[in-house]
Amino acid sequence: MLGAIEAGGTKFVCAVGDQNYDVVDLVELPTTTPEETMKHVKDFFKQYDVSAMGIGSFGPAEIQTQSPNYGCITTTPKIKWRNFNILDSMKETMEVPMVFQTDVTMAALGEAKFGAAEGLSNCIYITIGTGIGAGAIINGQFLEGMSHPEMGHILVQTHPDDLFAGVCPYHQDCLEGLASGPAIEKRWGQKAHLLAENEAVWELEGYYIAQALMNYILTLSPEKIILGGGVMKQRQLLPIIYKHVKALNKGYVAFDQLEDGITDYIVTPGMEGLSAIKGGFYAAKNMQKIHHLGRG
Ligand code: ADP
Ligand code: ZN
Repeated sequence: MLGAIEAGGTKFVCAVGDQNYDVVDLVELPTTTPEETMKHVKDFFKQYDVSAMGIGSFGPAEIQTQSPNYGCITTTPKIKWRNFNILDSMKETMEVPMVFQTDVTMAALGEAKFGAAEGLSNCIYITIGTGIGAGAIINGQFLEGMSHPEMGHILVQTHPDDLFAGVCPYHQDCLEGLASGPAIEKRWGQKAHLLAENEAVWELEGYYIAQALMNYILTLSPEKIILGGGVMKQRQLLPIIYKHVKALNKGYVAFDQLEDGITDYIVTPGMEGLSAIKGGFYAAKNMQKIHHLGRG
């Protein structure tokens, strides 16, 4: 059986799957303290004969396999989880090969193998929710360098009419600072889902997201861009993003993906809710293919 964990700040999704990557069993567990949550996680996996595990975690996290801290959540504002090593904790219970990555990178892998980017070797998965995070599969592999990318914190040009200072504790007016769910709420004084009818909200939101996408397109040349997270539930947002991406590109990147083909290029997830779990299964079974080996 293949194992996968999507470790989030609100909940942990744990699943086992068969060799065809189909989910056999899945539980959602609330994220409380590491001791409590990990006990429930381990109790779930103990029921099954798991041969390998893929873990996608909220970050920032240590993803370098050669680091002694491989598997650690690092500078999270969730104090109880700071410097907690999920991978080591799982290894106490099951001595099987494990791959550890960020949740969004695992989601990108899941989408590349089974979802909206199926069959493609280059894609980006972006979540726009409490935070903004993105992971990328490039040439069929996880995009990583010194660490994982932090594409949610890229710098964008503030709209001339936007006087909001931003909410990122590190940069204030980076993309996350200006366009995350909490940024929308603080700027407009209401929860994002209650602002559905306010066109100015989504026009500005699309303006910022499009800038970020344009930068990712110019830098990574992805074959597909997948936008997930709570804020993307506003379906009117996607066409606004298309409009602004086209306006920013000005016909420069001369591919149909940035003109009439844009609705097939920038899309929502193909497996709502399961992208990171399916990516975890795939990573577990194919470590050598996608990674410079997890820790066996
Ligand atoms: P998380 O990022 O915590 O994993 P989500 O992706 O659901 O979870 O993101 C939560 C954020 O998304 C909150 O800031 C919330 O205001 C916003 N959000 C959730 N649902 C909607 C919605 N239907 N429309 C707009 N914003 C939403
Ligand atoms: Zn930031």
